[in-house]
This record gives sequence, C-alpha cells and structure tokens, in this order.
Amino acid sequence: MSRPEILMPGRMSDSVERALDAQFTVHRLHLRDDPAAALQALAPHIRAVAAGGHAKVDAALIDALPHLEIVANFGVGYDNVDARYAAEKGVIVTNTPDVLTEEVADTALGLILMTVREFSAAERYLRAGKWPSASYPLTKATLRDRVAGIVGLGRIGKAIARRLEAFGVPVVYHNRRPQDDVSYRYYGDLVEMARHVDMLISVLPGGASTDKLINRAVLDALGPRGIVINIGRGTVVDEAELIAALTEKRIHAAGLDVFEKEPQVPAQLMALENAVLLPHVGSASEHTRDAMGQRVVDNLLAWKDGRPPISPVTETPFSGWHKR
Ligand code: NDP
Repeated sequence: MSRPEILMPGRMSDSVERALDAQFTVHRLHLRDDPAAALQALAPHIRAVAAGGHAKVDAALIDALPHLEIVANFGVGYDNVDARYAAEKGVIVTNTPDVLTEEVADTALGLILMTVREFSAAERYLRAGKWPSASYPLTKATLRDRVAGIVGLGRIGKAIARRLEAFGVPVVYHNRRPQDDVSYRYYGDLVEMARHVDMLISVLPGGASTDKLINRAVLDALGPRGIVINIGRGTVVDEAELIAALTEKRIHAAGLDVFEKEPQVPAQLMALENAVLLPHVGSASEHTRDAMGQRVVDNLLAWKDGRPPISPVTETPFSGWHKR
C-alpha cells in the first residue's frame, strides 16, 4: 500500500521530521526553489499537512489543497493556523496539549523567580567581577508579600497556580468564564483584577480575542509594585505600552518568554534592566519537544488509520473524516 503524502510548509524539529519520514511521504515546501509551483503540482495528492511554530496554514493554503482533511500542528498554541476557516471547510486541526503543560509551568516559575528576585541580573553582576567590591543590592520585590493574578487559567495556568500555592503565594484569576474545578477567586474584569494583585501572569492563547488585552489601563491598574509575566503569546501584551510602563517605572518589572514579533525583540526592551527576556523556551526541552512531536505523529497516524484524532482543537470537533 502506498504511503500517504504529507505537506510540510516549514521546518520542524529533527525528531518529528524523522518520525514523519518513517510513516509518510513528506513534501517539504520550504525547501523547494519555487514553492508556489510545487504547491500547485502537489495539491491533487495532499490530504494532510504537518505544521508548527512560524509556518502559517492560512485560508489561501487551505484553499490551495482541495483534498485536505487534517492539519496536525506542533504546539498547543495554533494561532499560525486559521482553524475557523479550516472548520468551515471540514478540515480537522489538531494540536499538542497536555504533554507540555508541566514543562511550561516549570519555565513560568523560573521566569517568575528570575524577575521577582533579579537572578539573571545578579548572575551578570557576579560574572562582571563586582561581588568582591560589594554585595548585590537587596531586591525590592519578593514573592513573600505578593498576590498572583493568572490571566488564562487553563491547563498551563492551573499547573502554574499549583506551583504558586506550594510557594505560599495566593492566586486569583481572570478568564472569560469561571472554572468549575478551582476555588481561586474569579475576576470577570481584568482591570479590576489588576487593581487587586501585584503580579499578572499571562498564559493566554494568541488571536483576535486576546490581542493587546494587557494594555495601558491594565498596566496602570497594576501599579508601580506590579510585575507582568507573559508565557502565553506576545500579542496579548501591548508591547509599546509595556516598554513605556517599564521605562517610566509605572510598573516594577516584566518577565517575558514571548514577544509581539518573534524572533524580533525591540531594542528598547533589550536595554531595560527591569525586564527579563527569554527566547520562547517555555516547552523547549528535548523530553517535552519529543513528546509534542510524537503527538503530531500520533494524530496523523490516527487519521491514516481512519481513527478519531487524539487532540482536535475546539474549532474543529471531530464528527468523522470528511473527504473533500
Ligand atoms: P488552555 O486552552 O487550556 O487555556 C487557555 C485559557 O485562556 C482558558 O482557560 C481560557 O478560558 C482562557 N482564555 C482564552 N481566551 C480568553 C480571553 N479572550 N479572555 C480571557 N481568557 C481567555 O490552553 P493551555 O493552558 O494549554 O495553553 C495556553 C497558551 O499558552 C497556548 O494557547 C499557547 O499560546 C501558550 N503556550 C506558550 C508556550 C511557550 O513556550 N511560551 C508553550 C505552550 C503554550 P475561557 O475560555 O474560559 O476564557
């Protein structure tokens, strides 16, 4: 039996590419001299796409593939895929939830501690040979007197909340609606929550409904003791307003793993001592990235065998494989 053909619009990690090569005939669009011509030639044979990160699967690509049945995305965030359009066209989109939850929550705690207790600045201080002359200054911030407001209390947000509880930090949260399985105080209004906490931790997905949700009004409500942590998507925070608030000390500090226009990070942000900046490493261990890659492969194997997908996204609930 011939192996199903898969389109890969952008590079994926070596382990995923190896695993896909073992099961499918993979067409790497990004390696073609003329991707548009290659897409046209491949379109009649392609029923599945494997994508991730910066590779966009937009309406134009979906329209260019008339037999498309599934887009298997690497990552729990899938703002690179037009899932709503895929739903209209009967195309299932899958993502890789759960297998990265604990890793991303670990990273969030690392980022929180680095930001609150200035660990990266303290290390730079030691390496610059300044310790023998004077101890690193006492940090103005501590977790000991802080209340955390989680913005987006989903799988990862809850894993962060569990860790903060163990650290003795009170947790409250903002979502569009309250969660049944937690007893943390719920705020329906983000500005009101920002007024009552001094650390905002954003774990929101990207997309239109969350774009610049953390804006000037939210930052001003958080106030001068305030710390912003963003481990969700960069587009959720108004980056220009955040830079202004950090520069003018209208908030105390920020710890960011994600940015508005990755991998570009504004020079003004890089110059700020009160910002801790990580290059989107939330899930970036070999262990977890391998598990995410395996989930991409498992979703595609389910499709290949005619079984239901393991993790379809909410926009594309599974009701059978619709041949287009
Ligand atoms: P979940 O879907 O489990 O959680 C997302 C939460 O956000 C939900 O509780 C949802 O609640 C809430 N939410 C969604 N939209 C809004 C909105 N407009 N306003 C307020 N709340 C909203 O996802 P995960 O926890 O698994 O992942 C969260 C995000 O983290 C991913 O989408 C991804 O973008 C990011 N991420 C970042 C990583 C990194 O490396 N930095 C790694 C992995 C993920 P409700 O629907 O009730 O509003």
